[in-house]
Amino acid sequence: MLQHGLIVAAHGKRYDVELHDGVIVSCVTRGKKSELACGDKVEIKPTGPGEGVVENFLPRSSLLYRSNEFRKKLLAANVTQIVIVLAAKPSFYPELVDRCLVAAESEGIRPLIVLNKADLPESAEAMARLSLYQRLGYEVLPLSAKQDIAPLLPHLHGQTSVLVGQSGMGKSTIVNALLPDAQARTGEISSALDSGKHTTTAARLYHLDAASQLIDSPGLQEFGLAHITPDQIEYAFLEFRPYLGKCRFSDCRHRSEPGCAVHEAIEAGAVTTGRLSCYHQLIDHPA
Ligand code: GDP
Ligand code: ZN
Repeated sequence: MLQHGLIVAAHGKRYDVELHDGVIVSCVTRGKKSELACGDKVEIKPTGPGEGVVENFLPRSSLLYRSNEFRKKLLAANVTQIVIVLAAKPSFYPELVDRCLVAAESEGIRPLIVLNKADLPESAEAMARLSLYQRLGYEVLPLSAKQDIAPLLPHLHGQTSVLVGQSGMGKSTIVNALLPDAQARTGEISSALDSGKHTTTAARLYHLDAASQLIDSPGLQEFGLAHITPDQIEYAFLEFRPYLGKCRFSDCRHRSEPGCAVHEAIEAGAVTTGRLSCYHQLIDHPA
């Protein structure tokens, strides 16, 4: 008899699968099955007390990869929202925002930009920098996680969210405010299933309520983009879309080609040079 479950953590080739009754079963995959990720919906066959084998996984609505040295390693499946955590201090890299937006757009995931530490006086200037993204239609939420997490809650409702941010932006403060007992729960699971062995997990899924999940991956700064094609990257820059296919050359990469519609859009103020150079950076060094 197969049982439906949800992968709540992946430790190498071993997965913590949560069943409908909340019980967590430690599972392996059979043979050379493709890699699975936190957030995957699976069917398992129990093989013993607290143990099982993953027989199938269900179609994914989205798939995110880890970046850099973890090239092409899965991070999380079925995420519906990427929460990009920024702050005025320390200052954030706009390219990281653009890279996260590309990951979101290419998977059809909703991005939410959070400007944390809104209590800092430097936040007004940071908000002004972020108005570019608001003009593109992205939501920018000012938040002071240290003082009050409540303004974030309605944005998380009904979503499976993954939090991403450079270190120092306040990601742990947000996670701790949302999941005060997460630390305890993590310890509980690893001691029960890994016989006391300490395993670091790339990502772990938590339930915020019956309809909302949070996937936390400590230290997650950006996503792997190596699997995304240059055309997909181009399409992920929303403001380029009206001009695509309008350049003189159909394979125009909007560098110094004559008759480039995207360069004309820059002249007209509809595209910024910052976003165009970020696009070039991404197609040249996608990892
Ligand atoms: P992480 O590296 O992104 O996980 O960041 P932390 O959560 O560790 O926070 C980094 C620093 O920012 C800590 O000193 C926090 O106390 C501080 N911090 C977090 N949220 C806020 C906030 O809303 N306002 C202010 N002023 N500081 C905050
Ligand atoms: Zn062009």
